[in-house]
Amino acid sequence: GRAGSGVGALLVIGDVITDVVARFATPPAHGTDTAAEIRTLPGGAGANAACWAAHSGCADVRLLGGVGADARDWHAERLRRAGVRARLVVDPHAPTGTVICLVDASAERTLLTDSGAALRLSPADWSPSLLDGAGRLHLSGYLFFTGSSRRLALVAMEAARERGVPVSVDPASAGFLGRLGPHRFLTAVAGAETLLPNADEARLLTGLPDAARAAAELSRRVPLVVVTLGAAGALVAAEGEVTARVPAPPARAVDTTGAGDAFTGAFLAARLAGAEPAAAAAEGCRAGAVAVTLPGGRPEPGRRTA
Ligand code: ATP
Repeated sequence: GRAGSGVGALLVIGDVITDVVARFATPPAHGTDTAAEIRTLPGGAGANAACWAAHSGCADVRLLGGVGADARDWHAERLRRAGVRARLVVDPHAPTGTVICLVDASAERTLLTDSGAALRLSPADWSPSLLDGAGRLHLSGYLFFTGSSRRLALVAMEAARERGVPVSVDPASAGFLGRLGPHRFLTAVAGAETLLPNADEARLLTGLPDAARAAAELSRRVPLVVVTLGAAGALVAAEGEVTARVPAPPARAVDTTGAGDAFTGAFLAARLAGAEPAAAAAEGCRAGAVAVTLPGGRPEPGRRTA
């Protein structure tokens, strides 16, 4: 087993975002228009995945994320209630990241994003809480990245490698794949254990139009690749081959926000509990199917699905 404190711990380094969701029946006109509903919800792929991991039974979930002073307490309280031990670093020069999500009657979404403080964490923000006096990582479990700054991710990944902590990466991160491009992204994550792209990202990373072929190809670079396919479930690939196809349970989707984050949180919680990749992917699909029936990107507090 892995020695050290916090056996079974998951550390998420990722984004904490405020989601403003506006629903409307007909496309808004210029000038002033009335929405059917406007709600402000806690979000961010990293924070959402951490909440889903706690919800799925992982007892020690930690989150490192950047926020502005404007919404620090609001987010901290919601993460605490979700059972996540969050270290929120306040950036005095940036607001909390915000996504404005416009949803029409057919559930089609338009997203306007400002990552704000979320992508401004630096390597200095990493060390104080997570390294011991000798500079070693206080973690044995999984380190998961999404929506984090590239510099911080590289420093944290190196610390994890030295400590033998498996690293999982969701390439969706705007601060990572988006900024590096496919080639440099794959070089940067060469030491990771698991890559968790959705089908579009798997295609983008490989240039292969077929998601299964893309998953197989990616698994030559990273030992374990799990590609999510929306309502079609997920694919698991290792050593250049697809090793499992996991169906998604049928669900009546009302809001697909956070389906991928739910998948990731439940998948990692299952891996920490000792599940094989295909069984963990099945847990991910179960959580994803629940997530699409809920508004916003987080599980319902207090109601365990696992
Ligand atoms: P998002 O960016 O919206 O969080 P994503 O693109 O990262 O999502 P998806 O592949 O769309 O991720 O969905 C993740 C998982 O959620 C899927 O693997 C599947 O298990 C589940 N899921 C998504 N959509 C549906 C659906 N309509 N019905 C049932 N399950 C779904």
